[in-house]
Amino acid sequence: MRTPLVAGNWKMHKVLAEARELVEGIRAGLANPPGAEVLICPPAQLLFPMAKAVARTSILLGAQNVHEAAQGAFTGEISVLMLKDTGCTHVLVGHSERRQLFGERGPALAKKVRAVTGAGLTAIYCVGETLEEREGGRTEQVVGEQLSAGIGRDVPAERLVVAYEPVWAIGTGRNATPEQAQGVHGFIRSRLANIYDKATADGVRILYGGSVKADNARTLADQPDIDGMLVGGASLVAGDFLAIIRAVAAAAGAAAARR
Ligand code: PEP
Repeated sequence: MRTPLVAGNWKMHKVLAEARELVEGIRAGLANPPGAEVLICPPAQLLFPMAKAVARTSILLGAQNVHEAAQGAFTGEISVLMLKDTGCTHVLVGHSERRQLFGERGPALAKKVRAVTGAGLTAIYCVGETLEEREGGRTEQVVGEQLSAGIGRDVPAERLVVAYEPVWAIGTGRNATPEQAQGVHGFIRSRLANIYDKATADGVRILYGGSVKADNARTLADQPDIDGMLVGGASLVAGDFLAIIRAVAAAAGAAAARR
């Protein structure tokens, strides 16, 4: 059984006082046990103070990006060892905003995944099609290519989470229907089975992301291949994020009861 994961991508939001208030709100409202792993991915300047804020809680800490090199003359970049030093256990790789706004592509992303997993951290590798690609019937082709560009057998599956984030659903208020999302998640799992094997693929968590809110999280999380959420906007408000965590935990509880 896969433990669900709910990850909050804060993007370029929050200064220290706001971040402390948000984490305190999440911590105070989390059920014990929360029923899902909970991860926050603040911007880089907040990683050290947020590591302190989540210490002695079950909340995990992740970063939004990393450079593939261990160190060097890469002005403005951050290495995986630096992230590890802050207490990060997870790193987002290939978020569509990185792909679209910063031109990140397969070969660099493949190196990033390996840098992260090689350092013993978990890579959350993001894939997803644009609206044009979906409407052109190319969703599986695009997602399949993104997967093969970034992931290979040499990537330890236990250090890998895949996030399916249709680009047209990110920050738009328009989310994939549960059936659309499940279709792509099932496809991703079958591709992972080709890369690894079926048993290994069955152990990899595949998150959905794209305008996840309290009112759509449960029906998405009820899908058999949706193992949690990658949440942007709704992760910036403790009550909204907590409601999503509860919905995901409830879906996992209901699935366990059916087994
Ligand atoms: C994201 O940033 O990964 C995301 C899914 O954003 P939002 O939830 O705001 O669509």
